[in-house]
Amino acid sequence: MKKKLKARSPVKAAASPAVKKVAARKPPAPVPKVKKVSVRQAQEMMDILCRTYPNAECELNFRNDFELLIAVILSAQCTDATVNKVTPHLFKRFPTPKALAEAPLDEIKQIIRPTGFFNAKAQNIQKCAISLVERFGGRVPTTLEEMTTLAGVGRKTANAVLGVAHGMPGWTVDTHVQRLSRRMGLTGNDDPVRIEQDLQKLYPGQDWSKLSITMIWHGRRMCFARKPDCPRCPINHICPSSLV
Ligand code: SF4
Repeated sequence: MKKKLKARSPVKAAASPAVKKVAARKPPAPVPKVKKVSVRQAQEMMDILCRTYPNAECELNFRNDFELLIAVILSAQCTDATVNKVTPHLFKRFPTPKALAEAPLDEIKQIIRPTGFFNAKAQNIQKCAISLVERFGGRVPTTLEEMTTLAGVGRKTANAVLGVAHGMPGWTVDTHVQRLSRRMGLTGNDDPVRIEQDLQKLYPGQDWSKLSITMIWHGRRMCFARKPDCPRCPINHICPSSLV
């Protein structure tokens, strides 16, 4: 397995220069409320996006569910490309949950430093590894309930790992999925859990993981936070937020 995914969650700690640069940027304007689309329109938009990005996949590199889990935690407030640069070294030094659980914390910090918020992230991934060893026999659990007991793992991260690594249904409601869901009229909610519930009602469970990644791809390539490229967008004839 090899791929990528991106997650964003607030993590408090000293920020790297790259992260400070990101933080200094003006935050995107809030997404205004739009009229919700019909189920048929919601399905048509997603059909078009799936045809537009037939090869959409998680963009984090990983070889197993443990590596994916750690990579997704590290991707908070950081690009997948940067995570992909540090994880080969990290997993070469500490290839298993046991090795990471017993690793010197300062060495973990040094390795993951480019991902930003490295103090908090280092503590989280080591606590997570310790839990995997002590409570799950050194394996990554395969239920949402168990996953979300791990340090640094919320519903978004758990759904991403379960969906990508194990093919289990789950919506990864990251910043892109939140923004696009509102712009596309799939939800009127701001809360990620309520957005997830709205999306669950619109699409069949077996598609949730694939559709999450497809929306993330569209958010990264066209429906940008600050200036969506509506004229080029293949769903601009349906999307209620289209600027065309
Ligand atoms: S039409 Fe514009 S706002 Fe709607 S999904 Fe496309 S890029 Fe985003």
